[in-house]
Amino acid sequence: MTKMSNNELEKLRQQADELNLQILKLINDRGNIVKEIGKAKEAQGVNRYDPVRERTMLNQILEENDGPFENSTIQHIFKEIFKAGLELQEDDHSKALLVSRKKKPENTIVNINGEAIGDGKQRFIVGPCAVESYEQVAEVAAAAKQQGLKLLRGGAFKPRTSPYDFQGLGVDGLKILKRVADEYGLAVISEIVNPAHIEEAIEHIDVIQIGARNMQNFELLKEAGSVNKPVLLKRGLAATISEFINAAEYIIAQGNDQIILCERGIRTYETATRNTLDISAVPILKQETHLPVFVDVTHSTGRRDLLLPTAKAALAIGADGVMAEVHPDPSVALSDSAQQMDIPQFEKWLDALRPLVNIHA
Ligand code: PEP
Ligand code: MN
Repeated sequence: MTKMSNNELEKLRQQADELNLQILKLINDRGNIVKEIGKAKEAQGVNRYDPVRERTMLNQILEENDGPFENSTIQHIFKEIFKAGLELQEDDHSKALLVSRKKKPENTIVNINGEAIGDGKQRFIVGPCAVESYEQVAEVAAAAKQQGLKLLRGGAFKPRTSPYDFQGLGVDGLKILKRVADEYGLAVISEIVNPAHIEEAIEHIDVIQIGARNMQNFELLKEAGSVNKPVLLKRGLAATISEFINAAEYIIAQGNDQIILCERGIRTYETATRNTLDISAVPILKQETHLPVFVDVTHSTGRRDLLLPTAKAALAIGADGVMAEVHPDPSVALSDSAQQMDIPQFEKWLDALRPLVNIHA
């Protein structure tokens, strides 16, 4: 082997550097063309991934390959280039989502009667699982108000696993919420399960809750998106984060951007808790979307002993707030009696959380 001078080595390296830049330019030129192809395919409603086309391209390339790289190496390199192109097309798609942070970098603030959810200050939503009577809701409202809270929850339409379980008081329940809200100066949040009820419901409540079982009830999402009322959207029982984000997209696509996302646990093989709280969903949702994110510690754990540690985790990880169920006498509650806090427990819970709350807007 002839000994190469330093000068010659330097020259070859320069050539390699130039080729790197040419390859870079070519890969990016190809990326731009692939993006155009992606748009054309979307307009035609055609699937982006086309294995037949990919095979034709690979064959064409391999036929022209006369080394020094083996066909298998060339095939590997080009498959990576094709894969990156496909990802570019997908990125373009999520960029187009109205809820995406790529679309709107600044946080959306949800205004609930003057409470600016998503402004950096962490808040609490508390109240009974179900509205059972005026007195029951008023007792929780008084306790919440005394603690300086502004947001009260209570279910009037209860989606229950069994049709024979308490289904809620319906519109009468919404009227109780309205009366309590007016008397105590609180905003009320309640689940609506039927698109036809939304118009009447918004006369009585300040936030429409869409429950886990209805996260993909697209007609309900569209109806909630077409009214001028904030929506608290809960993650579906077994919904991926992408499905959750797309459900919010259904709402915003109708013109309503006043959406709070609520992580409430998902179904896994774990039985120690009612659901598995997916705490990492919080920062993912905050990164991927511009919407405020709450954590419901009651339905995610189903365990009173876990309400404090999971709420701490939610606050620490950057949730915009925590939701929990509070009932004057949980042992006689008509739903979720095992996991609601009574009022002294709620006060203790809040006292323990207060030092951790970010109060800076
Ligand atoms: C609720 O918040 O009352 C409720 C039923 O929760 P989820 O829809 O998350 O099960
Ligand atoms: Mn409940």
